[in-house]
Amino acid sequence: MLFTSLEFEMIRSELADVVGDEFVSVSDVAKLVYATDWSWMPQMWLDRAQTPASPDFIVHPANAQEISAVLKIANTYKIPVVPWGGGSGTQGGTVPIFGGIVLDVKRLDQILEINETNLTATAQCGVNGAIFERALNEHNLTFPHYPSSAAAATVGGYLAARGSGVISTKYGKAEDLVVSLEAVMPDGTFVKMPPVPNHATGPMLMNFLVGAEGTMGVITAATFQIERMPEHRIFRAVLFDDLHSALEAGREIMLARLQPSVLRLYDDASTKSLVKRVLNLDLEGAYLILVFDGYQEIAAAQYERAMKIVSQYGARDLGEHPGKEWWEHRYDFYFPPLTLSLPKMYGTIETVTTFENIEKLYWAKKKAIEEGFAEYKTRYIAHFSHWFPWGVMVYDRFIIDEPPQDAQQAIQLHNKIWTVAARTSLANGGMLNEHHGIGLKLGRLMREQYGDAFPILDKLKQTLDPRGIMNPGKLGFSV
Ligand SMILES: Cc1cc2nc3c(=O)[nH]c(=O)nc-3n(C[C@H](O)[C@H](O)[C@H](O)COP(=O)(O)OP(=O)(O)OC[C@H]3O[C@@H](n4cnc5c(N)ncnc54)[C@H](O)[C@@H]3O)c2cc1C
Repeated sequence: MLFTSLEFEMIRSELADVVGDEFVSVSDVAKLVYATDWSWMPQMWLDRAQTPASPDFIVHPANAQEISAVLKIANTYKIPVVPWGGGSGTQGGTVPIFGGIVLDVKRLDQILEINETNLTATAQCGVNGAIFERALNEHNLTFPHYPSSAAAATVGGYLAARGSGVISTKYGKAEDLVVSLEAVMPDGTFVKMPPVPNHATGPMLMNFLVGAEGTMGVITAATFQIERMPEHRIFRAVLFDDLHSALEAGREIMLARLQPSVLRLYDDASTKSLVKRVLNLDLEGAYLILVFDGYQEIAAAQYERAMKIVSQYGARDLGEHPGKEWWEHRYDFYFPPLTLSLPKMYGTIETVTTFENIEKLYWAKKKAIEEGFAEYKTRYIAHFSHWFPWGVMVYDRFIIDEPPQDAQQAIQLHNKIWTVAARTSLANGGMLNEHHGIGLKLGRLMREQYGDAFPILDKLKQTLDPRGIMNPGKLGFSV
C-alpha cells in the first residue's frame, strides 16, 4: 500500500499504542517472511525474483481486546487486515495482496480448559496444533483432527479453512468438531457464540466464520469436541486390480456404517510413485489402507466385516505391516525430501462429490489434466482419503517437472490448469474444494460454484465488513 511517511508513522504509532512497540514489525525481513504462505503462486513469484505482495505492518496482538482495537484502527484508515495463524495454508489465503496489516495471532496461545466431563477443550486461536495435541495426550485424550500440517497450523486456522485430518472419515472435519467459538467482528465487536452447536434456537450463528478464511472476522478462541485416546487400533493394507472395485468396496464399507477411521485409497499412479517411494512397496493397482480404532471388540467386528467386503471386490490382503507402516510415516509425504517443491509446478486440486459421481469425476479430471496439458508432460495422481456417509473426496494433484521459467507465463499456465480442474469438478457434481479452502487461488470461481446463491454470501460480507478491511481479494467477494 502507498502511504505518505506521515500517515505511515501515524498508523504505526497507533498500532504500537495498542499492542506495544515490540509487537509491530515493519522491517523488510519481517515483510518478506509474511509475503507467502504455502501456496505455489507466491513462492514461485519470490523464487523468480519478482516483487512479492507484502504487508506494511505485522502486528502481534496478545488478546481479543487488542485485536478489536487493531480492527478499529484499520476501519478508520480503511487498511486491509489479513489474519495469520500458522501460515500453512495452500491457497494464498494469508497472502497480503493489497498490503496493510498482517495480524499474526500466535500470541493467543493459551489452552483455556480441558473438560473431561464433557470431553471438550477450549483453546485460543493461536495455539499450535501439535502443542494442543500433546497437552491433550498428557490426559490420554486427543483432538481427532490430524492434518499433516499440525506442527505448523493453529487451531484457529483449522476452523478458518474448514480442514480435514487423516482420521476425518470417522471423526469428522474440523468444522464438525467445534462446539462454540469467540470472535472479533470486522468492526471490532467481540462476540461469543452459544455454548452448544446443536439446538433449535435459530440458524447456526457461528457458521459464517467457519470456512470464511478471515474475511468475516477473527476467530479468537474455540471449544472443541475431543476424544479419549482409542484403546486399540487395527491396521491393514489391501490391493485391488482396478480403481472401480476399490471405490465400490469403499462405498460399501461406508454404507454399512462401519466407521473406519482411515480409508486411504491410492490410484494406480500414486501406488506406483508415492507408495513406492515412501513405503518402499513395488506394487501396481489401487492400494487401500484401512484403520479401525476404539474398543477392541467393536473395532475388531467392524474390521472383520470390512475385510469381507474388500475380499468380495477381489482385494489381495497385504497384511498388517504396510498399513501400520503408512500410519507411522503418514506425514512424511508432506515434508522434504518427499514433498513437492520448486522448481516443479504442482497443485492439489482436490474436491469432493457423491459416490455416484466420483468415478466419472476422477476420470474426467485425469483426462482434462493429462491430455489438456500434454505438451508440459503433466502428471495426474490421486488418492481418496476423506469419506462421508454419502460420498468421498479425491485428493488429486497435477505435477509439471519442467514448467516455464518466465514468472508471468508460469502463473498463466498454473491458473489455466486450476481453472480447467475446478470447472471439471463442478461439471461432474464436485465442489471447488474439500479441505484446503479457496483463498486467493480459487476466489474467481466462487460465483460459478454458488450461482444465484453467491450474492447472499457477498451481501453478508458487505454487511459485516462495509469498509472491506477483512482479508480483501479472497473468496471472490466484491469488497
Ligand atoms: C505440508 C502441509 C500439509 C497440509 N495438510 C493438511 C491436511 O492434512 N488437512 C488440512 O485440512 N489442511 C492441510 N494443509 C493446509 C493448512 O495447513 C490448513 O488449511 C490449516 O488449517 C491452516 O492453518 P493455519 O493456522 O496455518 O492457517 P493460515 O495459513 O495462517 O490461514 C489460513 C486462512 O485462515 C485465515 N485465518 C487464520 N487464522 C484465523 C483466525 N484465527 N481467524 C480468522 N481467520 C483466520 C487466514 O487469513 C487464511 O485466510 C496442509 C498444509 C501443508 C503446508
